[in-house]
Amino acid sequence: MIEEIRRAGPISTARFMALALAHPTLGYYARHDPLGAAGDFVTAPEISQVFGELVGLWLGRAWSDLGRPDPCRLVELGPGRGTLMADLLRAAAQVPGFRASLRLHLVETSERLRGLQRARLAGETVHWHAVLDEVPPGPMLLVANEFLDALPVHQLVATRQGWVERLVGLAGTGAGSELVLTLSERPSDLARQLPASEKALGQIAEVSPMRSEVAAAIGRRLAADGGVALLVDYGAWADLTGDTLQAVRDHAPWPVLSTPGEADLSSHVDFRALAEAARAAGAAVYGPVPQGPFLRAMGIDLRIARLLERATPGQRRQLRAALFRLTDGGAMGELFKVLALAGPGAPPPGFTAPTLAPEKP
Ligand code: SAH
Repeated sequence: MIEEIRRAGPISTARFMALALAHPTLGYYARHDPLGAAGDFVTAPEISQVFGELVGLWLGRAWSDLGRPDPCRLVELGPGRGTLMADLLRAAAQVPGFRASLRLHLVETSERLRGLQRARLAGETVHWHAVLDEVPPGPMLLVANEFLDALPVHQLVATRQGWVERLVGLAGTGAGSELVLTLSERPSDLARQLPASEKALGQIAEVSPMRSEVAAAIGRRLAADGGVALLVDYGAWADLTGDTLQAVRDHAPWPVLSTPGEADLSSHVDFRALAEAARAAGAAVYGPVPQGPFLRAMGIDLRIARLLERATPGQRRQLRAALFRLTDGGAMGELFKVLALAGPGAPPPGFTAPTLAPEKP
């Protein structure tokens, strides 16, 4: 990264994120297991098996509503340690015929995490891919939890010259040089992707062509082959998000530019941008709804109550803490949102009318 900036000048925050996270040898995902108590952050499937089980039941209902397609592709984007997939498959076995219809496809770029997924899903036939477009055609159920937040975002700053891109450059020379934020000298073409809202000087907005492209790729597949997608992430139905790029290391905030490749990087997901890209690609968009109400509607209280009946006192404390973290408005219940995308057919389970209907060609 330093060499690239020295040679060619400052890079976008998106390029910074891409290199820091996904560089094949020096990137964060190549060298770290980010998840769990020993990692840098904890995701919903790592908090409790109940999260994956409820997602599995949701998918089972969606599969029944689709007319029980067999075979059916089950795709997960960014499966981490494979925990969500393992938990949802266990629940899927409760829906007659569902488990046997599924063909498993994991979209994962990190060799290290592919290894953890292989171990976790030992005994299953699993296909790995670098991108969704590699998954063979056919009806599809897709899930992604905390995947989109890790995809690169550009940051734009409102100046008197218009929206100008924020860049990562170098200050100082030799061993004393460090990464610093600078501004591009020219207005950015990416501003075309921003909604035309009022802006104050100094206002920051984030734009992620990569996230929109993923939403469009999902939308194209669903429109052509049928199916549903469940995207869970933190963020909002936003106009101008502000600066939400953050680094996390060892479960605490970390300076974004200080140690590229050593800390996790992510930013809030703009669900409106995802929804518009998916709709333009031909999919219907449902939600987003906050994670807390979604899990409640899926029966999380009852499921936890069942588990409490045969739990030890220690397990009881863990179950109650997990319920709180996943659903409470002050924890993950409000900030995390669930967006559903669908091809032709009935609304996905738990949703009624689409937020955005597909664009007619
Ligand atoms: N879904 C998991 C892990 C979230 S971490 C959970 O909830 O616990 C983000 C995951 O996305 C990791 O598995 C990471 O390796 C993967 N990932 C990040 N960028 C990616 C990309 N461009 N293509 C494919 N996978 C990617």
